[in-house]
Order: sequence, then structure tokens, then C-alpha cells
Amino acid sequence: MKENILEIEKYAKENNVPIIEKDSICYIMQYIKEHNVKSILEIGSAIGYSSILMASSNPDTVVTTIERDEQRYMECLKNIKKCGLDKKINVVYQDALELNLTGVSYDLIFIDAAKGQYTKFFLNKGGVIITDNLKFHGYVGKSETIESKNLRQLVSKIESYIDFLKNNDEFETEFLNIGDGISVSKRKNEK
Ligand code: SAM
Repeated sequence: MKENILEIEKYAKENNVPIIEKDSICYIMQYIKEHNVKSILEIGSAIGYSSILMASSNPDTVVTTIERDEQRYMECLKNIKKCGLDKKINVVYQDALELNLTGVSYDLIFIDAAKGQYTKFFLNKGGVIITDNLKFHGYVGKSETIESKNLRQLVSKIESYIDFLKNNDEFETEFLNIGDGISVSKRKNEK
């Protein structure tokens, strides 16, 4: 297993596949153990790195993970099989923005994609929603000074998402200075 993980990290580096930072995945794995998280929906599988580590955190944890890029989806399936986790991780080849999330309930939703439309995933009936990359490599908070239009738009969407979290009446959000910036949002009436 450890060797497989090292291999995935190497592949990600060599092929420019963005994967979660170590501190962030360690935090999430610890959260899964401490809160006995059993069901996880991940938006953005890439090549399976975070879903493999999340599914291995607890014997009972199962993960559904969504990826829209075909090549990454195929690589993800391969990696999960290699780790012997194909019974615990269900990989869906789809654009997560097309998912109908009305009434869905997962113990944890991990959002690691589709930064423009993060708010869509706040339909989760229960559990917690964790979002990664809220610092976006240090650009967040400085969107107005960014020259590249695409990057500026992406960063400004993350800034709006942060405002959405701060002003959301239904969810209480904790912002953690871990890795590239994580938020942990819980429904207020579930505390
Ligand atoms: N969670 C992965 C990990 O840490 O190992 C990394 C995910 S990577 C940061 C984001 C992935 O989300 C990319 O592979 C991208 O193709 C995928 N993605 C982006 N928007 C998406 C969408 N709307 N639906 C499904 N996948 C999406």
C-alpha cells in the first residue's frame, strides 16, 4: 500500500496532476477516524490519491468519487484496483455539476474540484463539507492584482465562495490554515 501511494505521488508530479497536500489529507484522515465517518462523496478524484487514503482511514468507510476527465478516471480505477480498494471506492465518470444532489446524505463531502460552483454541493442533508484550496497557492485575497484573466476569475470565484461560507446562515464554517487552506462546514442545527 505504502509503495502504491509513493508511486501515485510520483506519477502526479511527473504528469502535473494536482493532488492534495500531505498536511491536508492527514487532517482529513484524522477527522474520518475521530468522527467515525462512514460515507464520503468526493468531487474531483484525479488519479485516486485522496480517495484511496480516505477509504483506508477506517475499516467501514466507503467513498464515492466523481471525475470528469477520462484519462484521470481510467488512472484512478487502475490505482484503486492496485490498492485492493475497489469494493470500498466507487468511481463515477461524470461532471459533478450534472449530479442531482437533492436529498443526498453523506457523512462527509470533500470538494476538491469545480471551484466555480462549489456552492451547489451545499445540499448535503447531514454531515460535514470539507473544501480544499481556499488559499489557492497564496492568490486568494489578491484577485484584483492578478494579470491573467483566467486565474483572476478563478481566484475571484474562490473569494466569493469564502464570502458565501462566512455569510451562510445554515452552515457554520471553520477555516483552517492547513496545506493550501481548508474549510470545514457543519449544519448549524446539527451541533
Ligand atoms: N482529490 C484529488 C486528490 O487529492 O488526489 C485531486 C483532485 S484535483 C485537485 C481536481 C480534479 O477535479 C481534476 O482531476 C479535475 O478533472 C476534476 N474536476 C474538476 N471539475 C470537475 C467537475 N465539475 N466534475 C468532476 N470532476 C471535476
